[in-house]
Amino acid sequence: PPDVEQLGRATWTFLHTTAAYYPEKPSPSQRANMLMLISSLPVLYPCGWCAKDFGENIQKTKPDVSGRVALSRWLCNQHNEVNEKLGKEQFNCAKVDERWKDGPPD
Ligand code: FAD
Repeated sequence: PPDVEQLGRATWTFLHTTAAYYPEKPSPSQRANMLMLISSLPVLYPCGWCAKDFGENIQKTKPDVSGRVALSRWLCNQHNEVNEKLGKEQFNCAKVDERWKDGPPD
């Protein structure tokens, strides 16, 4: 079976980075594809209980694919839900761009 921790780090890296570089004003096609990418995880993600809980969470709080800032925030909140479940620290969502796009200020 896959290493759930390593898979998780890699997947969050992919998702947060993709959100960080998602357009401010996505086209209808970009929105639809982002929605499909996120909706695929509950079906395909190779950690059964992760997939199930994530599926329930995105039903409760639908993905906001309207633009870069909203999507990054939505994803940060979803990641924080998982952090809470696992007893990890909450991440300050004001810092998503610093973490995943711009790097630390100098
Ligand atoms: P990770 O949680 O992987 O985070 C990686 C980096 O992201 C951190 O170092 C930090 O810099 C940054 N970060 C942290 N929080 C946020 C945030 N809120 N927003 C933006 N950046 C942030 N594991 C389980 O054991 N059970 C589960 O049910 C489970 N469900 C998961 C569901 C999904 C959709 C995904 C992608 C992963 C899931 N995982 C689950 C894996 C888990 O979330 C972690 O990836 C794994 O435990 C490794 O944790 P980590 O402490 O190395 O950091």
